[in-house]
Amino acid sequence: DAEVVLVGRSNVGKSTLMRELTGHAVATGGKPGVTRQPNHYDWAAEDFVLTDLPGFGFMSGVEEERREQIKTDVVRYVEEYAEHILVGVLVVDGKSVIDIIDRHSGPDSIPYDVEMFHFLRDLGIPTVVAVNKMDKVDDRDERLDDLCDRLGLHPPWKQWQDTIAPICAKRGSIDPLTEAVRTHLHEAARDDLFKFF
Ligand code: GDP
Repeated sequence: DAEVVLVGRSNVGKSTLMRELTGHAVATGGKPGVTRQPNHYDWAAEDFVLTDLPGFGFMSGVEEERREQIKTDVVRYVEEYAEHILVGVLVVDGKSVIDIIDRHSGPDSIPYDVEMFHFLRDLGIPTVVAVNKMDKVDDRDERLDDLCDRLGLHPPWKQWQDTIAPICAKRGSIDPLTEAVRTHLHEAARDDLFKFF
């Protein structure tokens, strides 16, 4: 089956977004670190499966070792199904993503979000960054340009609208994301068609 995967740190609003995308009741908040298996949902409007992968990051009561295991599981899953994954969606919290990336950047460390972005793209998976919680961001363009910079994409962000999708999942404002995902799905379908010529 054709598949779209969602990855991201915990608490970025992945469950809220899944609910918006699918109309399914997805447990939000809840006990952190409990949902560690991939969840599959059908995205009604399009013919593919949407997979919610476990969130990564600080979870109170969850040990470092277990967190690393979650990350390893996500990486393994994506590697195993890379051929079927048409689009990767990396969900980030627009309000905190720059601070978090900068805090975790160092000579020997790559922040999770940056790592996942490059990991997906290196596997040849077109990747959209869903920049959520934009309702909490005042300096919108500046923030999105900074994010481009951290991801190694040349600002301004406006030229990356297939890759950078500012959204507010809580209010159901997710058009930039669905547009970007559709673009990649149609590209994939077109490439598929071109194989025959
Ligand atoms: P998950 O851990 O990534 O699945 O995150 P959740 O979907 O459980 O959301 C974490 C928190 O962020 C909840 O309190 C949500 O209500 C909140 N949240 C989700 N989307 C938005 C948004 O677009 N704007 C704001 N301000 N809060 C949001």
